[in-house]
Amino acid sequence: MALIVLPREPIVQFLTPDTYNALTMTDHDTPTEVPIDPAQIGPVLVAWQRRSGRQDLPWQRDRSAYRVWVSEIMLQQTQVATVISYFERFIARFPTVSALAAAPIDEVLHLWTGLGYYARARNLHRAAQHIAQHFGGEFPRQFADVAALPGIGRSTAGAILALAYDERQPILDGNVKRVLGRVFAIEGNASQRSVEQRLWTLAEACTPAQDVATYTQAIMDLGATVCSRRNPGCALCPMTAQCLAHVAGRQHEIPAPKPRAARKARPARSCWWLLPIDDAGRVLLERRPERGIWGGLWCPLQFDTPTAAESYARQRFAVEPAALETLGTIDHAFTHFDLSITPLLLQAVAAAEARDVVRDVAMEPSGVLWYNPRDGAIRVGLPAPAKQLLDALLGQTFEPSRNSPYG
Ligand code: SF4
Repeated sequence: MALIVLPREPIVQFLTPDTYNALTMTDHDTPTEVPIDPAQIGPVLVAWQRRSGRQDLPWQRDRSAYRVWVSEIMLQQTQVATVISYFERFIARFPTVSALAAAPIDEVLHLWTGLGYYARARNLHRAAQHIAQHFGGEFPRQFADVAALPGIGRSTAGAILALAYDERQPILDGNVKRVLGRVFAIEGNASQRSVEQRLWTLAEACTPAQDVATYTQAIMDLGATVCSRRNPGCALCPMTAQCLAHVAGRQHEIPAPKPRAARKARPARSCWWLLPIDDAGRVLLERRPERGIWGGLWCPLQFDTPTAAESYARQRFAVEPAALETLGTIDHAFTHFDLSITPLLLQAVAAAEARDVVRDVAMEPSGVLWYNPRDGAIRVGLPAPAKQLLDALLGQTFEPSRNSPYG
């Protein structure tokens, strides 16, 4: 039996002496062979996937590298249930890499509205253009070519090749890190480089030579649906016989939380949105800079202070602050900070007054738009809080979204 060699220290820390002796060699000065044969993991998970795993997700049908790629990018930071409708709309509009490459970025962001983490959409678009230019529109087959595409790291490249072509490539997304960390009782947190390297070694050792696509789907699904972070469902898990954390009753302690130094405080920020609405019920939006939050999306005019918003309204629309109606604050959580948005409504502005609105700030590319959400011809990307606010103000039904704080 091929055994994987792990340093003994992590095991010593939690096993009782009897269990430890049963699991390890007695020479404490040498690395310990943990009697988990990585080759056992694949067949167990493949059998579980065929029995209990998800088999009919949209990207599992008509499987292609392009469809798997789009799904993998959408699934980063987002639940399967939320992704399904977004995936179907996206693929219906952009059925091929070439169709995506040829589309305007506004339309790509429009179909991403509400899904959050918009850099994913911009990277998809950029990568599609790269594939169209350098690979004739065919998704590349070589790992190095896939991993070099914008927005694709080592794990995502492995997942695409494994799921689309059954190619033996390990993956190590957040769910897989948790499963392998528990099964092999890896101490520490994957944010630590040494821990991540050990997990990659384990991921490589566990990936079978056959049924790679099924195995890859299985270990991702097990982490997402059974071996969850807070409540691992060991009673439903096919790995109880192999899982060292389960054997030791430590599944709630592994993986360890991030070290304190790696955890950052979440700052709170505020901004004010000025919402000029014209007689036709259209609202003035401006395009966000490519870099920064909501890059490339269309947003109400944003100011750091209410005074700045009032001053702008006075200069541009010749209205006094009393004409602005302050609406309820919107709280929005980004990954690294919380944003409090106060909308200021300015009704019945004549569009002509703002036809040549240009902000006195560096916006690239600059652009303003009188936006009517009922006009289906205007397809642009909006941040979730902007879309929710405009829907509430202008009476448009909000499209399905995960109601995420990350929109
Ligand atoms: S036995 Fe429990 S802790 Fe171990 S992999 Fe399964 S669900 Fe996770």
